[in-house]
Amino acid sequence: MSKFRESSFFSISESICPVCRRILSGKILLKEGKVFLAKRCPEHGHFEALLSSDDKYWVNSLSYTKPGQLPLKFSKAFDKGCPEDCGLCEEHEQHTCSPIIEINNKCDLECPVCIVWNENNYEMSFEDFKKIVDGLIEKEGSLELVLLSGGEPTLHSQFEKFAQYITSKKEIKRVLISSHGLRIAKDEEFAKRFAQLGLYLSLQFDTLRGDVYEKLRGRDLLADKMKCLERCEKYKIPTVIVPTIARGYNEDEVGALANFAFKHDFITSVTFQPMAYTGKGGSSFSVDESLPITQADMHQLLATQTDWLKKEDFLPIPCSHPQCYSATYLLKVAEAEFIPLTRFGEINSYLDAMANRALLDSGGRTAEMLQDAVYSLWSAQSITVDSKKVNDSLKNIIKQNQASCCALDLQKYNEGKFKAIFIHSFMDENNFEVSRIRKCCTHYALPDGRLMPGCSYNNIHRHRDERLKRK
Ligand SMILES: [Zn+2]
Repeated sequence: MSKFRESSFFSISESICPVCRRILSGKILLKEGKVFLAKRCPEHGHFEALLSSDDKYWVNSLSYTKPGQLPLKFSKAFDKGCPEDCGLCEEHEQHTCSPIIEINNKCDLECPVCIVWNENNYEMSFEDFKKIVDGLIEKEGSLELVLLSGGEPTLHSQFEKFAQYITSKKEIKRVLISSHGLRIAKDEEFAKRFAQLGLYLSLQFDTLRGDVYEKLRGRDLLADKMKCLERCEKYKIPTVIVPTIARGYNEDEVGALANFAFKHDFITSVTFQPMAYTGKGGSSFSVDESLPITQADMHQLLATQTDWLKKEDFLPIPCSHPQCYSATYLLKVAEAEFIPLTRFGEINSYLDAMANRALLDSGGRTAEMLQDAVYSLWSAQSITVDSKKVNDSLKNIIKQNQASCCALDLQKYNEGKFKAIFIHSFMDENNFEVSRIRKCCTHYALPDGRLMPGCSYNNIHRHRDERLKRK
């Protein structure tokens, strides 16, 4: 009998068996302030996973959902149902905000935490790449960002040709490269060309301690990471740092990582990714799987380890499923001093501005939100921050733009004056929920035209992808 007999039943949630991956009907249970997913496979027995260590945050986050936006075109008709039809099928609830194109599965690291399967046997052809990029534009019209990943994408033999092609598309605002940063660290000419191509770097940066790199990435990469960041600063490459956080390894460093990022103007945001136990490394990584780091844990850790963040500063992002993503945006008020926008301004416009997630929006929504913030400050409503500093900072932005606050052009300022912290929780086979897949907006774009919700691909479809067949 389940040890959760004493818990209170909340709802039904479809999941998968961690062993055979068949779809199972699970139960969401609330117990002692926490949220659990319990499920039973007829063949492999009973499984339980922690979904949240704060039931109030978890339940409240459900109210943050907003209607999804439809893509211009779906790739697949409804057939067997979610998540078997992924591609996106007509039943999917959200368009593609963050497409990921994995251009190879070659990597020169063997990371114990790697969530994919790098077999060094696949390199995307330029024809396939073009087809995917053109297909994304056809399905979405325009895109805030596209992420190139792998493997290690900078090791693709035609990396720069790919980069040239995709950055030439006016429909795509930003191209991010998800990289370990070693090529930028080792090859200054490459770093220069990377900057000239107008690429953004999404840098795996888990820790400020060499021995922790050894444990998470297989060897001490600290000097290489610092070299890479030095080059990014020198050549003005806008950089997002992406720490993977694993219980018992680096959860005590989230505050230090946030502080580090906020000291550098060229680092636009931090995306913390609590460890998901999928892929070649992740599925066998030695961490107690009964203690995953949930969204609420991340908020608590950041609040405890910094003196400028509270857990209430983090809100679920309404664009994706609220349990997949949360964020806070911050305004720079002095050198290396930032104040979360949640401390002032209207919460609803804040949520709208958060519709774009991986980077700050330089267009309408952020500008509108700031305009609201300025008005609310000027009308002297309940302000809980140092209002003079905030007011001066906002006025300064307006003055430097030589425009009224109704026509804020944040293009020049959004990367330096504002920063963001994102918490992105990927699912593994333990905590997998079909309901979260349905609202997913982080999609792997495949050469056959399908768009795969990230966790559906990592947990189910990647295992069936003929291109990446394991030796
Ligand atoms: Zn099973």
